[in-house]
Amino acid sequence: MIKTDISKLRRFLEKKLDQKRFEHTLGVTYTAAALAMCHSGDTKRAQIAGLLHDCAKCIDNDKKIAICEKHNIEINEIERKNPFLLHAKVGSYIAMHKYKVNDDDIVRAILNHTTGRPNMSQLEKIIYIADYIEPGRTQAPRLTAIRQEAFRDLDKALLIILEDMLVYLDSLGGDIDPMTRKTYEFYKNYDQNNNKEFNQ
Ligand code: FE
Ligand code: FE
Repeated sequence: MIKTDISKLRRFLEKKLDQKRFEHTLGVTYTAAALAMCHSGDTKRAQIAGLLHDCAKCIDNDKKIAICEKHNIEINEIERKNPFLLHAKVGSYIAMHKYKVNDDDIVRAILNHTTGRPNMSQLEKIIYIADYIEPGRTQAPRLTAIRQEAFRDLDKALLIILEDMLVYLDSLGGDIDPMTRKTYEFYKNYDQNNNKEFNQ
């Protein structure tokens, strides 16, 4: 049983995030709770991870780098060039040390919410997907199909998101964290092995 008080956590985060990010955070939180309900997951863990997933998003880039350096959190080449990516690593650190979250699955869900990773836990998938489909999101292609799929099959929803994410990142022409591609390859093979069909 996790003792974290959800409404207290929400009030804390309201102070730490700008309004837009806080609205997004609430969207991710209740979307994650709904996905957990749908897939027989733990709604409390989903809400805590949802509330905290972007807890480091509004910290200045310089400060994010300083936090990493101070606490020996590794910064890869791509993160060095795009420090906003560090909000996942810094966020998981803050969740553990400031918000005293000692549930590994929640910490990992925060840590992996930007790139995903092969073989994610159900909670990690839920946060990754909720981040993409929460009601405040309007830009992504195939959003309607992905939203429906998320409430049927998390792995399929994940694969469509990763596919679209790679197309989008490619179109920007910048660096792509290799983990995003690794995650995509993993779920593509997983899907083939399971003979799952897409109905988009
Ligand atoms: Fe984020
Ligand atoms: Fe987010």
